[in-house]
Amino acid sequence: MSEAKTYSGGCQCGRVRYDVRLDLTQPVISCNCSMCGRAGTLLTFVPEAAFTLRSGGEALTDYQFNKHVIHHLFCSVCGIKSFARGTGRDGGAQVAINVRCLDEVDVDKLNVHKFDGRHR
Ligand SMILES: [Zn+2]
Repeated sequence: MSEAKTYSGGCQCGRVRYDVRLDLTQPVISCNCSMCGRAGTLLTFVPEAAFTLRSGGEALTDYQFNKHVIHHLFCSVCGIKSFARGTGRDGGAQVAINVRCLDEVDVDKLNVHKFDGRHR
């Protein structure tokens, strides 16, 4: 059973703000790839329809590496990567949420699964 709720999140300086509907009783991903491993992001993935960018689109810088399938978006002012855009296995648009950037979420209470992104 889904316990999806609506959360608000964004970057540190407040330019980038979004709302997202997701279920935080489900595991979140700690990835060790060259990007996440450095930044310490905790990720969860939602379909595009569950995500609404409220502000800050003009402040985002798009960085791509490796296979260039993911748009790693970060705030050009404060540098925080609060979400990324990509394509899911089903071919639909997906948004990767950095759970650390959600308001009022205690990341120590989340169920964290390790993902070996470095060797994919
Ligand atoms: Zn910012």
